[in-house]
Amino acid sequence: MKLHEYQSKQLFGRYGVAVPQGIVADTPEAARAAAGKIGLPVVIKSQVLVGGRGKAGGVKVARTLDEVESKARDILNLTIKGLPVRKVLIDPAADIKNEIYLGIVIDRTSRRATMMASAAGGMDIEEVAAKTPEKIVRVPIDPFVGLPDYLARDIAAHINLPREHWAGFMTIAKGLASAFAASDASLAEINPLAVVGQAGGPDRLMALDGKIVIDDNAIFRHPDLAEMRDPDEESGAEKQAREAGLNFISLDGNIGCMVNGAGLAMATMDIINFYGGSAANFLDVAGGARADKVASALRIILADPKVKVVLFNIFGGITRGDEVARGIVGALQEVQTDVALVARIIGTNQEEGNRILAEAHIATAPSFAEAVQVAVKMAK
Ligand code: GDP
Ligand code: MN
Repeated sequence: MKLHEYQSKQLFGRYGVAVPQGIVADTPEAARAAAGKIGLPVVIKSQVLVGGRGKAGGVKVARTLDEVESKARDILNLTIKGLPVRKVLIDPAADIKNEIYLGIVIDRTSRRATMMASAAGGMDIEEVAAKTPEKIVRVPIDPFVGLPDYLARDIAAHINLPREHWAGFMTIAKGLASAFAASDASLAEINPLAVVGQAGGPDRLMALDGKIVIDDNAIFRHPDLAEMRDPDEESGAEKQAREAGLNFISLDGNIGCMVNGAGLAMATMDIINFYGGSAANFLDVAGGARADKVASALRIILADPKVKVVLFNIFGGITRGDEVARGIVGALQEVQTDVALVARIIGTNQEEGNRILAEAHIATAPSFAEAVQVAVKMAK
């Protein structure tokens, strides 16, 4: 689950990361009022769960209240990478002297959270990683120790941060590491972490952007974070699937797949490709699926207009073939469809399952390969 910039920065702020004191607004008038409280100039920032808002015109500086209102209106009318902008964050505009990248991700190779930093901040870190990987310093974090001072200093030295900012950097880097661990995050990122000028004071480091992704498997431990979920983060189908307890990912092909078990689902997609077809989705109904879950899964698959045929590939272990068959037949009584269906059910209660499907005139195939071949043919 992704949190918005304003939520991420609030969270980081609780761990000692210096962040601007901004206000969220959902109308141009509210944006104007917020700017009145904060003081001009301000930066108006679209709150959508995608990167590259700056380039898409979703981040603008305003110097007068009229300008705040008109720019907020423009930004609130934007759709960025398919997501409508419903809120803007009004932050005091920063006098940026330098932009740094600072982030933490899980590195599967070292099996640790890994802090990454780069002097090339403000731009896409993926681009920096692809073109100039030597500009990124990576430091694995021991889960029992956290980020010690010496490692934070080491990172500061590697990105050539001037000495006067090392103390501020240590606080921020350690705060980010604590926020990451405490929230069960899979990613936490500040881009840019900026050196900003202050009227009548020395420059200081501040997190001007924030992004955090919480591991969905740990959300149950964080009811306060779960409440922050933005329904626009997911497509309608993905949301329905999550609520029904299904593992679902929408893809570009035209063969809808309903499979039990993630491994079998992956194998099914491979075999579909092997026979020249392409899957419309990955869907794992998981072990022991009962009829109602199967019906929800089928409704989700059939709601996708790309789907030309639905392939059921069920290995009955804990899952019972007859339950699955009843779910399919039950769902078809509610959802009218002329999409072709083909099923392969093997294992527990397969005879009963196949009998139920045959009675409902649903094509069955005796083997994995045959079921896929039939599906690929029907999709063409
Ligand atoms: P992103 O494009 O979605 O990553 O959005 P960011 O929050 O990172 O903003 C993009 C860019 O806008 C930053 O890299 C900065 O250069 C600029 N920016 C963000 N906040 C401010 C600000 O307060 N003042 C100024 N002058 N520029 C800002
Ligand atoms: Mn950014």
